[in-house]
Amino acid sequence: MAYEPANNRYESMKYNRVGRSGLKLPAISLGLWHNFGGGDRYENGRAMVRRAFDLGITHFDLANNYGPPPGSAEETFGQILKHDLAAHRDELIISTKAGYHMWEGPYGDWGSRKYMLSSLDQSLKRMKLDYVDIFYSHRPDPETPLEETMGALDHAVRQGKALYVGISNYSAEQTARAAEILKELGTPCLIHQPSYSMFNRWIENGLQDVLDQEGIGSIVFSPLAGGLLTNRYLNGVPSDSRAAGPSVFLKSDQITDSKLQKVKLLHELAGERGQTLAQMSLAWVLRGGRVTTALIGASRTDQIDDCAAALNRLDFSEAELARIETILAA
Ligand code: NDP
Repeated sequence: MAYEPANNRYESMKYNRVGRSGLKLPAISLGLWHNFGGGDRYENGRAMVRRAFDLGITHFDLANNYGPPPGSAEETFGQILKHDLAAHRDELIISTKAGYHMWEGPYGDWGSRKYMLSSLDQSLKRMKLDYVDIFYSHRPDPETPLEETMGALDHAVRQGKALYVGISNYSAEQTARAAEILKELGTPCLIHQPSYSMFNRWIENGLQDVLDQEGIGSIVFSPLAGGLLTNRYLNGVPSDSRAAGPSVFLKSDQITDSKLQKVKLLHELAGERGQTLAQMSLAWVLRGGRVTTALIGASRTDQIDDCAAALNRLDFSEAELARIETILAA
């Protein structure tokens, strides 16, 4: 049967302005890095995208290399768009990136104009799109002048192949310089995509200040620390979990006793707040309004339901925040 999105899809999601731009993004966004590849079950990925859209999640994050194999997550998303969301393109914010290894030879990686613009063309073909909403430099390239990489982003916008541009994994200093170059080119940097969670707080040491000063939004990836900051690993490593699989981002040996002890205490606090740990972890990255959107991953539709319900309780008391600091510092 043809998919009809939920009529009430815009009723409970919160939309936050991205920096000082005209664009708003949902407080929760869905990333397609895991579970949407060529070897994953298409119907499961399709169900997750549909459920997300039904919940008001209008933003889907991709990259050229997501899969495996690289490129297959964009192909999967292209299929889902064609089958289910073609009539809703103007309700969607679709992003992709280039910056990691994609094809053989000297032009298939990093940040040259040659690589960035060829990669964007390939991404558009795989997703069967005329344009993406946000095109990112996925990581800084130490060998290519920043002017060249930023110039490629600017060119993508001028070609009409991207509406906005962003950067990911850039340090505070690199971000300040990138923002300056982009401003001079006339294509402001819309958004930065760094990692951020209760277990990974590097952006608090300078990057967030630069983003505030420059009016750049932030979309934080792995806010659940790949699943560690949820109830997933409370009783061991489930066989269908990320840590049991080949992912390099969460391996079972990273789930140490000391980490697990913290997870258990955080889980207790979340329960007292009437939330799951995943919900509290998302509310925590969004606290204070400095982060525009939390970029989650999921392997099942019920995880997306659970994460979206984080919006039911975003506030923290000073005492709760202090208790989290104590747990994390132990
Ligand atoms: P998360 O920290 O949100 O981890 C997602 C994992 O957590 C899921 O796969 C699932 O694990 C588990 N999970 C999610 N919701 C729940 C829930 N409610 N209850 C229990 N477990 C849950 O983020 P990711 O690490 O997946 O990254 C998210 C996105 O960020 C990526 O898809 C990608 O778009 C982007 N990203 C960007 C990077 C960059 O360099 N710019 C790098 C990495 C990610 P399980 O699979 O075990 O069920």
